[in-house]
Amino acid sequence: MNRPGAHTYGSCNSYDRTTDAFISDYSSLITWCSENGIDGLVVWGLLRDGHGGVEAARAICELAAERGVKLLCGVGLNCYGGVYYEGASPYNLENHLRAHPELYATGPDGRTINFMVDGNGNRTDLGAPSSLGPRGFYHACPSQRLNQEFVVDSLTWLFQTLPLAGVQIETGDTGVCQCNLCSQRRKYPVSEFSWEDMALMYPIAANAVRAVAPGACVICETYSHPQPYVGPRVVPGFGDGTPPWAGEALAAFPDGAFLQWVGDNYLRLEDPAYVWTADGSVAGNGFRNILRVHFGTNWGWGAFRGEVALDWMAEFARRSGEAGFEAMSLFGEVSPFETGAELNYLALRDFASSWNPASDLASFLERVAAPRLGGLANAQDFLAFAGLLDRRHPERLGEIPRALAQIYGRMSSLQPDAARRWCWLANRLASYQV
Ligand SMILES: [Zn+2]
Repeated sequence: MNRPGAHTYGSCNSYDRTTDAFISDYSSLITWCSENGIDGLVVWGLLRDGHGGVEAARAICELAAERGVKLLCGVGLNCYGGVYYEGASPYNLENHLRAHPELYATGPDGRTINFMVDGNGNRTDLGAPSSLGPRGFYHACPSQRLNQEFVVDSLTWLFQTLPLAGVQIETGDTGVCQCNLCSQRRKYPVSEFSWEDMALMYPIAANAVRAVAPGACVICETYSHPQPYVGPRVVPGFGDGTPPWAGEALAAFPDGAFLQWVGDNYLRLEDPAYVWTADGSVAGNGFRNILRVHFGTNWGWGAFRGEVALDWMAEFARRSGEAGFEAMSLFGEVSPFETGAELNYLALRDFASSWNPASDLASFLERVAAPRLGGLANAQDFLAFAGLLDRRHPERLGEIPRALAQIYGRMSSLQPDAARRWCWLANRLASYQV
């Protein structure tokens, strides 16, 4: 309970439910987004035999279009299963690599960099399977022409097959090929990702998408914050700032694309390596820019699953606006039935909007949270009680028993929907007592 595990990996998790459950859950999600002003939704693992393949994906694409929500497919170009995330499809990256084992990415030692992670976070190398292996992280060499053609063919098929609003593309942050071809191609070192691989692959992918769907939204992940990195690492990694060679790579990124950056370190960590200054602005960089965070759904950066992160969301909205970002994104994975996620997403919509341009938390509580939590005084208390789990103040955990007594006492006076949300908070707090 309340323990990080393999589910915190953003890729290669199993899906053990049915096609009906997939369509039903994602229909609820799309409807919620539509009713609550969330403009777009990226689905990783959209195409998967285990939940209905193309037909199920088409059903939710059509619903999203009907409801005015932009549905984007998350696609790993050298990783994460490719276009067809899992199943017996020629557009699944693992099938492609099994048929051509010489196209796997390798480390400097010539060994493949494929691996799996078990439920306790332990990592096992997978080698270069030529038959169906366990679900895992399989990587392709981006320098190989056949892998580049595979990207083009599979994205072409994707946009010919599904009525998508766009795509979020990534080159991968779980392993970088360092074969001879890649090492000779690159001028700069890599971390768990490579800016030069992005510069190589994103234009190839964007051109393939736009050849079929000229108006498609293309989001290119950078895995980075725009602040020039000043910390101790030789090569900045995930969520760190940019290396000196980022600008050269960005010059090759596709025109008109959105860049998605990572905000968590520079918003949450009190560390001199992560100070966000005016040099971390994206204004005038020639792209449209999105800042992403993982509040409430991840265990990193002092965040935790189930966190009610309204103060952080306000800071996120203010700082990203000041730095020239056009959009904000929040990693999901949790249903709005979980009140923490519900409030965080309502804040994503409300902060920096025309209703709340200053991202004022008191205004949000009054207009948005109070009607859902039994009035303004209750909304203020809800936030204070949720704050007992704030990682910056571990001593507050001792106040949970007294808070629970107060919460249970007010339950009978609340309307059912408000009571349900308070039940969620009580359960969440109580789970830190056992
Ligand atoms: Zn390579």
